[in-house]
Amino acid sequence: MLEVSSAVYSKRIVINKSWCKSCGICASLCPKVLVMSAGGKAVAANPSLCTGCRLCESHCPDFAISIKVV
Ligand code: SF4
Ligand code: SF4
Repeated sequence: MLEVSSAVYSKRIVINKSWCKSCGICASLCPKVLVMSAGGKAVAANPSLCTGCRLCESHCPDFAISIKVV
């Protein structure tokens, strides 16, 4: 018998603003969660909507955004 289980975990979006080069890739990929601030840096505007898919993390060319399991 195949048994499938899933783990529920909390996650935190960590953005290193000094590494962010304001390319906007992450906000384009995930506009419901990530936006660009007036200063041009990525900001997690709606972190509660984050699914933890890590698309932003894997596509940031500057390694400025990461998803931490807490
Ligand atoms: S993809 Fe990375 S460098 Fe580009 S805006 Fe997002 S956090 Fe900044
Ligand atoms: S992990 Fe996925 S859902 Fe969460 S901010 Fe990144 S792209 Fe959006």
